Amino acid sequence: MAEETIFSKIIRREIPTDILYQDELVTAFRDINPKAPTHVLIVPNHLIPTVNDAKASDEQAIGRMVTVAAKLATEAGIAEDGYRLIINCNEHGGQEVFHIHMHLLGGKALGPMVS
Ligand code: IMP
Repeated sequence: MAEETIFSKIIRREIPTDILYQDELVTAFRDINPKAPTHVLIVPNHLIPTVNDAKASDEQAIGRMVTVAAKLATEAGIAEDGYRLIINCNEHGGQEVFHIHMHLLGGKALGPMVS
């Protein structure tokens, strides 16, 4: 059984966090260390440690992460200019919190992805 991270506490609202959206599948909240004017994390409510652990039964939650990202981008007024969605996986991907999360980054020109 995978170990919970701080994100499970945020999802259960056990610690104060700026939650922007929550439904039965996903929760979205502001990143504590923003890398862009808009930096939101969208996470499945149930623990999936990495993309490698995602199962067919997780597809609804993972799909919802994308549609919620688009909704929040529209609400933030950054949809038309554009934004970036990132899911990091394991060490080489730079993953630090082992509960899948999608970064929604925007509000400025982010430039090309670094190699
Ligand atoms: P990763 O490198 O893709 O795993 O990103 C983890 C992200 O979680 C980083 O951008 C952190 O700033 C963010 N983070 C870590 N702890 C918290 C928290 O308690 N609230 C909100 N964001 C957090």
